Amino acid sequence: MVLAGGVGGARFLRGLRAALDPATDRITAVVNTGDDLTIHGLRVCPDLDSVMYTLGGGIDEERGWGRAGETWTTQTELAGYGAEPDWFSLGDRDLATHLVRTRMLDAGFSLSDVTAALCARWQPGVELLPMTDQRVETHVLVDLDAGSRAIHFQEWWVRYRAQLPARAFVQVGVESSVPAPGVVQALAEADAILLAPSNPVVSIGTILGVPGLRDAVATAPAPIVGLSPIVGGAPVRGMADRCLPVIGVPTTAEGVGRHYAARTHGGLLDGWLVHTGDRADVPGVAVEAVPLLMTDDDRTRAMAQAALELARRCRDA
Ligand code: GDP
Ligand code: CA
Repeated sequence: MVLAGGVGGARFLRGLRAALDPATDRITAVVNTGDDLTIHGLRVCPDLDSVMYTLGGGIDEERGWGRAGETWTTQTELAGYGAEPDWFSLGDRDLATHLVRTRMLDAGFSLSDVTAALCARWQPGVELLPMTDQRVETHVLVDLDAGSRAIHFQEWWVRYRAQLPARAFVQVGVESSVPAPGVVQALAEADAILLAPSNPVVSIGTILGVPGLRDAVATAPAPIVGLSPIVGGAPVRGMADRCLPVIGVPTTAEGVGRHYAARTHGGLLDGWLVHTGDRADVPGVAVEAVPLLMTDDDRTRAMAQAALELARRCRDA
């Protein structure tokens, strides 16, 4: 059982799948949907799609998101109309996913149903569950045009490259959301719960913000092990260093570990994996250093194995 964001979550899940036996082991991933947005009338789920394409072999490996062999004709045509917004890239292949999703949602299917339908094509080998079926969107409180404004997380991340100072992250709609079907049960039945090396604020933090979900994690019988997305005091990819200060967390493996905190201290963790050479003192948590760079399949598999072994030791301790 894994809590995951987009690119970091996807790569980690691919390693975990390789570390386990498909005949006997099941993997369920609860994926962040706070990045979701409606663009040109289409519902886009960036993190679910990154995970689905990565596990299904359809990802553009270099970019880390979107489809391999992508073309951009529709986008160029939209630009010809001056259609706004123009800062979010939509590839031609990728568009088919959003068309199918939007049509199903409009017909009354839940995001869980839609995700299962899309996965029937991609066969990710992992059960992908959205964190919730309700619409919950992360917005960022920024100072813009001489006033305080909330903009969609994607606009902040993609359009402004996270360079506009953020005052706060807000999960619009979260109060009336509930964990998607199967999420609470999967947590209760899991042998191990892993927090992928995903963004602690706008991926893992968003998932844990769904009412009831954090409690379901914290009270699950399985050991909980997290993997640090921060290596050598910086995010490996992306701009997590623009997010962590907003919630007062230092951009270090120790800072994130202490933010998640020990289960025995009202937090979540039994174990915390940091990258070789990084140090983290997290009271009440078994900390271990192993290579945490997902530069190829073998290294990523080894990293997943290390997380499973630490979980096993936490359980037996
Ligand atoms: P996003 O939704 O696409 O931003 O992806 P996630 O939230 O799942 O993952 C983003 C995080 O993954 C970033 O904070 C990165 O530091 C982290 N990350 C990416 N590649 C690696 C890696 O090779 N090793 C580790 N430890 N973290 C990584
Ligand atoms: Ca994301």
